[in-house]
Amino acid sequence: MQYDHILIRYGELSLKGKNRKVFYNRLHENIRHHLKAYPEIKIKTTRDRLSIFLNGVNPAPLIPILQRIFGIQSMSLAIKVENEEEVIKEAALFALKEVNNVNTFKVTTNRADKTFPIDSQKMNQLVGGHLLRNTDGITVDVHQPDVEIHVDIRPEATYITSEKIPGRKGLPVGTAGKTLLLLSGGFDSPVAGYLMMQRGVRLEMVHFFSPPYTSEAAKQKVLDLTKELTTYGGEIKVHIVPFTALQQKLHREIPHGYSMTVMRRMMLKIAERIAAKNDILSITTGESLGQVASQTMESMHAINAITNYPIMRPLIAMDKSEIMTIAEEIGTYPISIRPFDDCCTVFVPNSPKTKPKKDKVEYFEGLLDLTADIEACINDTQVLTIKPFDTHEPDVDDLF
Ligand code: ATP
Ligand code: MG
Repeated sequence: MQYDHILIRYGELSLKGKNRKVFYNRLHENIRHHLKAYPEIKIKTTRDRLSIFLNGVNPAPLIPILQRIFGIQSMSLAIKVENEEEVIKEAALFALKEVNNVNTFKVTTNRADKTFPIDSQKMNQLVGGHLLRNTDGITVDVHQPDVEIHVDIRPEATYITSEKIPGRKGLPVGTAGKTLLLLSGGFDSPVAGYLMMQRGVRLEMVHFFSPPYTSEAAKQKVLDLTKELTTYGGEIKVHIVPFTALQQKLHREIPHGYSMTVMRRMMLKIAERIAAKNDILSITTGESLGQVASQTMESMHAINAITNYPIMRPLIAMDKSEIMTIAEEIGTYPISIRPFDDCCTVFVPNSPKTKPKKDKVEYFEGLLDLTADIEACINDTQVLTIKPFDTHEPDVDDLF
């Protein structure tokens, strides 16, 4: 005997009323996409659950993949058998033995097929008795069992499941539009991107790159971070903006206390242009209030004034330690911790203003004509597409 399908339970999705179908279909597509390497697998979506039919595929490696997909409340390995007492008992025994470290269990029968001759209470006893007779040292606990064996008798077949494996919850990526994430190589911005995906948002990345002040290794870090995030949200486009000339000009021409603020404004201005060009309706950053000089209320006020685009800051009220915990859990920590030469740290003045005045910033910025520099950044932006689960180098699919 072996498991023949995985049962997926919807979480918050099932609350989506009339829009439910959109969410179910998106989850179906996302699962199909993530399991593309297993062509034998078939997926079926119904009102109350989604089933992944294995057709002989070993389910073990699929579980960690599914556990990264947003929109799944929980999942269970399942067996489909005929509505036949003896067969059901055997399948239940198989399911119990497959779970490790079990001391207690409980059988719960749901008899949706009322033509089945044995009622659910009696089935619980019959199956439970069979399990007790055929195992050693395992007992029944109806209140807090280590594992619940679920027997679902439906007209077409009986489905048996055991362990409930937690899913990632959230909403399926692609149900809430797209955001342009300002991705540095640090700890914060990848976590910010992850949190946006959790609410169903698809990501594109923009990275400001300042060679030779920042190295190829720094760019690779950004691509590797993106790759890690694709395992949650699928393919992601990365816009690499050559930022050196503009940064040098700001460093040269803007009074030092203000150059960092103007540089951040330029990042947003360029990001806005890239977003508009790609039908993206918001910008996301990894900013957290009070973390550094550019993340005070005054700085954010002066920086934000350059754009009308909504800016999402999912980390705004989080402590660094909370952010680090998420970074570790989602797998971006070991990449972010690699030695770092960010374009911002290279040009950062000794004493950036922590309370820049918006009027002053606009005044200094207004003394320069930056139009051509911004155009050059946009024209020379390189676009890469990063795909999940492949070892190939990213394709350069667009140079404009
Ligand atoms: P992170 O850990 O994400 O680098 P941080 O705490 O180091 O954040 P800053 O370096 O001040 O903060 O950057 C604030 C935000 O600005 C980042 O979270 C990121 O969204 C964006 N950002 C900074 N540097 C770059 C860059 N080179 N390219 C793209 N975005 C950047
Ligand atoms: Mg940084």
